[in-house]
Amino acid sequence: MTTADTTAPESHSFEADVAKLLHLMVHSVYSDKDVFLRELISNAADACEKLRYEAISTPALLGDDPKARITLLTDAENRRLTVEDNGIGMSRGEMVEALGTIARSGTKAFMDRIRAAQEGEGAQLIGQFGVGFYSAFMVADRVDVVSCRAGSDEGIIWSSDGKGSYTVAPAARDEAPARGTRVILHLMEDAASYTERYRLERIVKEQSGHVPVPISLIEKPGAEPQEVADGAALWIKPRSDITPEEYTDFYRSVAGQFDEPALTVHFRAEGRHEYTALVFVPGSTPFDLFDPDRHGRMKLYVKRVFITDEA
Ligand code: ADP
Repeated sequence: MTTADTTAPESHSFEADVAKLLHLMVHSVYSDKDVFLRELISNAADACEKLRYEAISTPALLGDDPKARITLLTDAENRRLTVEDNGIGMSRGEMVEALGTIARSGTKAFMDRIRAAQEGEGAQLIGQFGVGFYSAFMVADRVDVVSCRAGSDEGIIWSSDGKGSYTVAPAARDEAPARGTRVILHLMEDAASYTERYRLERIVKEQSGHVPVPISLIEKPGAEPQEVADGAALWIKPRSDITPEEYTDFYRSVAGQFDEPALTVHFRAEGRHEYTALVFVPGSTPFDLFDPDRHGRMKLYVKRVFITDEA
């Protein structure tokens, strides 16, 4: 590829499965559309964790902005909601790969279920599976993703109306975050309330209160950020400070389950080695239990840095 090729905007078609999934999202009658925010925040938090991990061997990646953060920016006038993180970001190639194909096993399992489901059953399944980034198209008729990979100063903009194709192009310097990803949702008319502060605060508290990255809200361009979640990892807190609802919330967000845990074990060991363990036994069989691509749900953190889920 020549340099001229890489600077020109390109149009790509979605992989067939993505197109099908998007069709479902766009025409979704699923009533609890709030889940899109949980999915985007969870991606943003993952991106921050990935950066923390890469920065262990390459501290320069953090530059002069070492503290992970997620910011929600609302712009009611233009019916826009932006979810921004200063995490790892995506290069052009990573964007095409991540946002044009279905990589995650959960989404694959979802598609299999959809194929097997009766007409009209699909909508209920959305809530049970958590379908990742593409759920943004339940509330937005256009999504722009502007990203800058840590260690690079090249911003890239991905854009789609969710109808079969997307474009990728270099972003102007002032359009892209210095590092990380900005997901801009051009909200549908009936989703305009996702620019309301109270609505967003409530959803964040309910669904994402335990992500290990602080989340703040900027009510309109230029306004001061206000913190809506402090990013304190739940397992660090003493047991007596955690309510059963907080445990259940946390369990649901890490496990992708929608039931109550059958058993919750939380303890702290001190001695030559110090560690905290927080383990849930699901109340019902996880939908992807026998999926060969299933990742372990046990996550190992050292000093709150995510290390692996394959320990
Ligand atoms: P999942 O998060 O389960 O992999 P998604 O459909 O939500 O599935 O996202 C697909 C991929 O897109 C992610 O795995 C990640 O590589 C990439 N991605 C999405 N959002 C971000 C983000 N905010 N920062 C960096 N990469 C992201």
